[in-house]
Amino acid sequence: MGETADVVIIGGGIVGSSIAYHLAESGCADVLIIEREEKQGLGSTSKSMGGVRAQFATPINIQMSIYSIDFFSRFEEATGQTADYRSHGYLFCATTEARLKYLRENQEKQRAFGLKNAEMVSREDIVKMVPQMIADDIIGGAYCPTDGFVDPYSVMAGFSKRARELGARIWLGCAVTGVKVENGAVTGVKTTRGDVATRGDVATRGDVATRNVVNAAGPWAAGVAQMAGVEMPVSPLRRQIIKTQRCDFLPAKFPMVIDMSTGLVFRREGEAILMAWADEEETYGFKTAFTHDYLEKVLTRAVVRVPQFEDLPVNPKQCWAGLYEVSPDHHAIIGPAPGVKGMFFANGFSGHGVMHSPASGRITADLILQRESFIDPSPLGIERFAEGRLLEETAVF
Ligand SMILES: Cc1cc2nc3c(=O)[nH]c(=O)nc-3n(C[C@H](O)[C@H](O)[C@H](O)COP(=O)(O)OP(=O)(O)OC[C@H]3O[C@@H](n4cnc5c(N)ncnc54)[C@H](O)[C@@H]3O)c2cc1C
Repeated sequence: MGETADVVIIGGGIVGSSIAYHLAESGCADVLIIEREEKQGLGSTSKSMGGVRAQFATPINIQMSIYSIDFFSRFEEATGQTADYRSHGYLFCATTEARLKYLRENQEKQRAFGLKNAEMVSREDIVKMVPQMIADDIIGGAYCPTDGFVDPYSVMAGFSKRARELGARIWLGCAVTGVKVENGAVTGVKTTRGDVATRGDVATRGDVATRNVVNAAGPWAAGVAQMAGVEMPVSPLRRQIIKTQRCDFLPAKFPMVIDMSTGLVFRREGEAILMAWADEEETYGFKTAFTHDYLEKVLTRAVVRVPQFEDLPVNPKQCWAGLYEVSPDHHAIIGPAPGVKGMFFANGFSGHGVMHSPASGRITADLILQRESFIDPSPLGIERFAEGRLLEETAVF
């Protein structure tokens, strides 16, 4: 007898793990996660900056964040493991009236969709939060105290651990190489055979018969969709993170700062500071090397805002790069695959897959179980690209 599962999830990162958790916790425990790496989290999940925020510009992102941040705040109760959720806030700093207006308008949308605690802040408020910043040109900003950071690896591990306790299985070191489709419906997946004896699982891997397959393959989502004959417009885009050496001059606790004049983002992580910046010259592709060129570009912008960064050492060996999985409108693609019954997508998070992992797990599980979710997920369906119903998110950092 070959292997069977009610649901096969391709990819054991934070998104696949959350889907497994939400399915298992809803009583659907015959779930098999197939992860090609020997360890979970080696894709985008472990490269993330861990930022979580509800200060978005579109209703769907705001609602997914509200669900997710509430989930992070009770993560340990739900999974038995900490998410290391730190509600230190996100602070957007504006230097032009146009950007301030944009933040104000976003806040109206955020309030209308249930985010009650985001507020506009003055330059004086900003200086109180981060006194070391040069703020002469800052005319105000937006702040939400329940935004903050989580530990992405811990979140992924918590979702997986609890899913396994409830009966879900995970195969590590096993790649899905094909999705079997008969008469327009999924019937199984093909996997590599090998003798990867992990965690007491069987030592050989063959095909798995299943009626439901979820593509949770992160930056590799387009290739997996192709296995079911579907074109998925998700492209890998390198994003790099600078980690400084011990920083004593910035406060022990301050928000994720977004300098809207340059796009520089920074926050504290333990003794160090993490910095990121979206390099518009970056091109699509599976590029994962950290570059010296990037370091220069970011530090040039960083010292303008915080001159003391000039003397803060950075060891490039402690910096890293990973891949965003970018969709054309910077919104997730969640929903059934058109024309392939039983195939589901949870892809294209465009840099928000960690913060939206609880919501995307919930929505995907609800779709598979054919029940209502906490939001109408139809705007996230892949058909929107063919139908020209793009969701424009402008608050992308
Ligand atoms: C530098 C950087 C900073 C970021 N910062 C943030 C942030 O602050 N906040 C935020 O919310 N998000 C952030 N992100 C984005 C976030 O990390 C991703 O959106 C998220 O991790 C996606 O999770 P995933 O589970 O979909 O993908 P992944 O973690 O990439 O998992 C996909 C898995 O699928 C596996 N896989 C692929 N193909 C196959 C196959 N054929 N068979 C079996 N397994 C397969 C891979 O091995 C991988 O483990 C950041 C990303 C980067 C790179």
